[in-house]
Amino acid sequence: MNDINLKDKNKKELKIEEQKEEDKAGIDSADDIVIEFQNVSKKYSCGDVEAISNVSFNISIGEFISIVGPSGAGKSTLIRLLTCEEKPSEGKILVAGRDISKLKKRELPFYRRKVGVIFQDFKLLPKKTVYENVAFALEVCDATNAEIKEKVPKIIDLVGLTNRVFALTEELSGGEKQRVSIARALVHNPKLLIADEPTGNLDPVSTWEIIELLFKINKQGTIVLLATHDKEVVDTLERRVISVKNGKIVSDQKKGKYIL
Ligand code: ADP
Repeated sequence: MNDINLKDKNKKELKIEEQKEEDKAGIDSADDIVIEFQNVSKKYSCGDVEAISNVSFNISIGEFISIVGPSGAGKSTLIRLLTCEEKPSEGKILVAGRDISKLKKRELPFYRRKVGVIFQDFKLLPKKTVYENVAFALEVCDATNAEIKEKVPKIIDLVGLTNRVFALTEELSGGEKQRVSIARALVHNPKLLIADEPTGNLDPVSTWEIIELLFKINKQGTIVLLATHDKEVVDTLERRVISVKNGKIVSDQKKGKYIL
């Protein structure tokens, strides 16, 4: 057996163990409700006001939700609570029935793989190609070479970048960069994709291309949570809109508009 095959074999064995952890920390739910915020409050240790104050809402399978609100309203705090970067000061967040503040340290990486996050500033490796950026997300999780070779081209195709696969990401347009970051967020088949102001740096045409891509991903079964300031996008989507102000939900509408 050559070195590469031996490495792949060891990684495969590791994967079986990891799969057990992933199943424990995963967010598969038999229920329609996948995420439940139950009377959640968050006060930062250095802050004197509650960033999130007694917030309750549910998210179900298949939803595409916009979260809107002025700067300082608490949107980023909500996101950081969901990704387990912060813990609630009060209340509970259940994901697939499990209180995520009780996840063990070793379970956190597996949980986070099931929650993809993309940002306004892309957070890519600029001197690496599109392929390398996406492959890197798998390499750091000890994916086998065979798995990387199989998955990466498929995901790059899904986000429409097959013709740019060997371009350095620093040479891409803003819209293309956001596609790479979406591809990277999708490598672990997340159940939830959080998009934190994903179109904040994009022109109107690229903005709509990214929103359409998020829709496509949503149709394939991933919950999309879109935090945005873009009134036109939110009003056109005609999907659920949660409006946040001073740490509280001030409206939650099924086919909402951007109202503050
Ligand atoms: P948004 O994303 O809507 O702009 P944030 O969640 O960032 O809102 O902020 C909500 C409130 O929490 C603000 O008053 C902000 O100053 C405060 N806050 C956010 N992050 C921290 C932090 N790490 N430490 C202390 N206070 C914070």
